[in-house]
Amino acid sequence: MLDCTFCKIVSREMPSQIVYEDEEIVAFHDINPQAPVHVLIVPRKHIESVLDVTEEDRGVLGAMLVRAKDIARQLGVDEKGFRLVINTGKYAGQAIYHIHLHLIGGRRMTWPPG
Ligand code: AMP
Ligand code: ZN
Repeated sequence: MLDCTFCKIVSREMPSQIVYEDEEIVAFHDINPQAPVHVLIVPRKHIESVLDVTEEDRGVLGAMLVRAKDIARQLGVDEKGFRLVINTGKYAGQAIYHIHLHLIGGRRMTWPPG
């Protein structure tokens, strides 16, 4: 989609530090990390938010979770633990309307989130 930051990262029109990619998803370091490890996992397909997912997206959504596990291992946060977050809509603070899974780790986190 035109003018979508994550579509531009997926197409390599915009630079990013990619940690994993395959035919369905791309994962890259967040430009403004909130923890020692902060990676965003996005589908290549432009899906605006959780509110826009359809039955046909089951596969790619599953792939995002399965790869999150692999990336957590790859970046060494699997043993101590990490958090997976999908912000959805205004109150959750979603800033980029191309669905993305935050993988955050490398420090102790609090609950509930702010
Ligand atoms: P959200 O608030 O869930 O929409 O999160 C958007 C995230 O994208 C934020 O954590 C930003 O720091 C991150 N972000 C924005 N632009 C870029 C970019 N060009 N490369 C990497 N991460 C980005
Ligand atoms: Zn997009």
